Amino acid sequence: MSRIAYVNGRYLPLGRATVHIEDRGYQFADGVYEVCLIRNGHFVDEALHMARLSRSLGELKIRWPVIPNALAVIAREIVLRNGIRDGLLYIQITRGVAPRNHPFPSGNVTPTLVLMARSTDLAAGDRQAEEGVAVVTRPDIRWQRVDIKTVSLLPNVLAKQSAKEEGAVEAWLVDRDGFITEGSSTNAWIVSSDGVLMTRKASDGILRGVTRTVVFEMLDGSDIRFEERRFTVDEALAAREAFLTSAGNLVMPVISIDRKPIGGGKPGPIATELRRLFLDHAKASALRYTPQATNMSD
Ligand code: PMP
Repeated sequence: MSRIAYVNGRYLPLGRATVHIEDRGYQFADGVYEVCLIRNGHFVDEALHMARLSRSLGELKIRWPVIPNALAVIAREIVLRNGIRDGLLYIQITRGVAPRNHPFPSGNVTPTLVLMARSTDLAAGDRQAEEGVAVVTRPDIRWQRVDIKTVSLLPNVLAKQSAKEEGAVEAWLVDRDGFITEGSSTNAWIVSSDGVLMTRKASDGILRGVTRTVVFEMLDGSDIRFEERRFTVDEALAAREAFLTSAGNLVMPVISIDRKPIGGGKPGPIATELRRLFLDHAKASALRYTPQATNMSD
């Protein structure tokens, strides 16, 4: 089945789905995006992704190109037209097309809306989770508004590439004080040497991951000791276990940091349990699916 993308009101074969060269997303990375998990043809945590998209747009003063309910309809259409059962939805909104000039364009420029979706291999993700993955640490050289999910991802791209070149799947970014912020496209978690699960506060220089939020809900009522706080590279290296979270990776055990084994080099029990709970949650979200879009104002 050939892939279909949505661009500004049209469903097009991927090869013909293009935007103008003066799109501000292309010239200034002046835009935002979302990546949402699709399970069984339905969106997982759609309302949380839409709320974060709304916040990102608001922070950059980009207006909604269509009303949120229309976006929800387009998203469903993209999943159907691409025949996706399990995969990822990508939504991008930029400030739109205008002659290249740094200030926001004056007048009524329509933001550019692009949607794509692709299938992912569930079994491959599960196999990777059984093995666990390697991460390396890299300096966090990003700007100070990483709470906004912008398409301005060059430092993330460089960190991820450098991790890949070292045989790792993710780079954990380290702030100037030696604390880990998050991964280049994932949130970072450890279970400390004395058994406390920790991840950095969302207000403290990271993106508020949707998966992170859902894991918080799972911890509520569990007997896992949990603290929302920053941790150093040394604490991470001494951790009992480590894992990362994102819509694409769900909960993924980390078995080495900078080539040093964590938790004996095997996925830990808390990461494994949280992945299982997240998979149940994803399945339940898919079952709870209602074709009616979430009721959000713009
Ligand atoms: N941090 C960064 C920098 C990311 O790009 C992502 C992926 N969007 C995440 C964390 C995880 O967010 P989510 O759980 O919403 O995928």
